[in-house]
Amino acid sequence: MKSFVRHSEPDFLKQHAARWNRQWTALKTRNPGAQFNWYTYQGQPVNQLLAPTLESQTQQHCSYCDAFPLRKGDNTIDHFRPKGTPRFYKQAYTWKNLYTACGHCQNVKMEKFSEDLLSPDAADYSFERYFVYNYTSHEIEINTTASPDDQHKATVTLRIFQFNHPAQVISRRHSWERWVLKPKNERYLDDFAFRFLLM
Ligand SMILES: [Zn+2]
Repeated sequence: MKSFVRHSEPDFLKQHAARWNRQWTALKTRNPGAQFNWYTYQGQPVNQLLAPTLESQTQQHCSYCDAFPLRKGDNTIDHFRPKGTPRFYKQAYTWKNLYTACGHCQNVKMEKFSEDLLSPDAADYSFERYFVYNYTSHEIEINTTASPDDQHKATVTLRIFQFNHPAQVISRRHSWERWVLKPKNERYLDDFAFRFLLM
């Protein structure tokens, strides 16, 4: 997971998020089985309006695992605090709760959440603080020099996102192999997946 700086909230969301959060909360409270469909703004679904901003802040990489490129239909928006969990209904349209995420991260995370889950745009987050990359196994390991609290958060984050799922490990190895084969003056970091292991 690579750190990034969140862009400022789009104006239309600033104006309408509170109302949409209230609407979604009211609907789910009435009918807990209600399916989430993005509300529309000026005829366009909110997720389509938000996608370009969310994707540009990670240079079109997954906010969590840093997969790249995001495949068509894969670039879905994740609610960090799950929109289907009653105490988070009111954050369904909250800017800081929205992240662009790949299919892997969406599928494994689902409605899972922990207050100890690390977020890549937290001011004090960095890969090195919590994790160590193993360039032999291509697994992400816990930084054992970190504080016990940080190690716990790293463990929770590895578990929820399954960053050491075999498909993730193989993809990271491929990215690394492509990177080292590239002449140094032709390496454009943002063209690669899993940038935290290349830096
Ligand atoms: Zn991902």
